[in-house]
Amino acid sequence: MNSKTKIGIIICDRYRRCAGGKCLRAMRNREGAFSIYAETELELVGFTACDGCPGGNIEYAGDEMVKNGAAVIHLATGLVVGYPPCLYIDTFTAFLEKRYGVKVMAGTHPLPKKYLDMHTALGTWENPVWQPLVAPTLSDDPTRASFID
Ligand code: SF4
Repeated sequence: MNSKTKIGIIICDRYRRCAGGKCLRAMRNREGAFSIYAETELELVGFTACDGCPGGNIEYAGDEMVKNGAAVIHLATGLVVGYPPCLYIDTFTAFLEKRYGVKVMAGTHPLPKKYLDMHTALGTWENPVWQPLVAPTLSDDPTRASFID
């Protein structure tokens, strides 16, 4: 470990009852979107939901997370895997980056296998717009299989 990065996580309100187990495990083990931090110590400084479509809590949550030192805000994997995936990811990303000067990343824990299978069947992510949003959490077969939902 040669540095420390503070992060915030914003989850989709459809999964607001989630206790964060998969995100926290992935953060601890540097899996999924957290694999980029292999040499970096991480501190979670905020975890909350968007408050429902169209994301009424994004402004407040971003403000508080950045005030608490967040350098990166992760939009949780649930935004990518929901049915449908969140239509506001690009808006949230642009707003948070421009308003607070924070880096925003799509995804947290690896895509659970059942979501990859269903979205592949649906063709959801064939649109090139989705490919960079899915890529950070694509992971590999054994890792996906270990994230049973
Ligand atoms: S789909 Fe997007 S805006 Fe709607 S609840 Fe989920 S994260 Fe929030």
